[in-house]
Amino acid sequence: MPDYKWISCKTLLNKITNKDRLFQGDYTLDPYQKCDLGCRYCDASEDTVYIKSSAAELLKKEVAEMDGGTVIVGSTVDPYQRVEKKERITRKLLWVLIDHGLPFHILTKSDLILRDLSLITESKDARVTVSLSTTNKKIAETLEPYASSPEERFNAIKKLSEKNVRVGAAIMPVLPMITDESLEEIIWMAKNAGAEYIVYAYLELKGEQKKRFFSTIERYFPGYLEGYKHLYGQGYLPLNYTLDDKIRVYCDKYNINTVFGGNL
Ligand code: SF4
Repeated sequence: MPDYKWISCKTLLNKITNKDRLFQGDYTLDPYQKCDLGCRYCDASEDTVYIKSSAAELLKKEVAEMDGGTVIVGSTVDPYQRVEKKERITRKLLWVLIDHGLPFHILTKSDLILRDLSLITESKDARVTVSLSTTNKKIAETLEPYASSPEERFNAIKKLSEKNVRVGAAIMPVLPMITDESLEEIIWMAKNAGAEYIVYAYLELKGEQKKRFFSTIERYFPGYLEGYKHLYGQGYLPLNYTLDDKIRVYCDKYNINTVFGGNL
């Protein structure tokens, strides 16, 4: 387990200057700094996770001065990471948003969100996007060791959808060569579970994060190492790798909306 430290913050809500392209929000809200779900491709996965103290009290003051807008809950780290089970900061923040009638959009890789299902259904305008990069349990365990399994994430989509919460799946990040193998299955299973839409974004790798992820690829997926070096040689994904067309084809095939920069 990482170390956990409490920190006090001056503000919680972060105003997005241009409406968020992918998730269509006006504000972001992160109950924690850094994340304990340990995804190997993520630069938020660290040895110390910071828990924001007095978060609900602070949020109450901030929402009192807001003019409305949609709040993205979990923009940089997962709001249902492991520490949330004990500390329940996300849960307390959702209470505040619901109390003030504010729309929110939760992003997560964890089925801990089901703990708050009945609370979420009290909102008049809640949306949840559950993200995953593979349907392969072993690969998910290797790359996202403490996140919920793909099966648990599809089950979370199903349970949310059964309670009429607007829910979608995010293929995030798209991991070149790894996500390719289960792309169709992700879209098919998301649709079957009740997802209304698919959004997606490609893996970006920079600096230390790139070095760390290359070591992971070398260790667990040695056959992909050269491909990754080629694709990420410049530090970003070149335009000659894309799953855009395939995603559109599968989304058409399974009759589910796909959004990249449009309205969800
Ligand atoms: S759940 Fe999200 S924020 Fe947490 S380590 Fe994984 S990718 Fe990073």
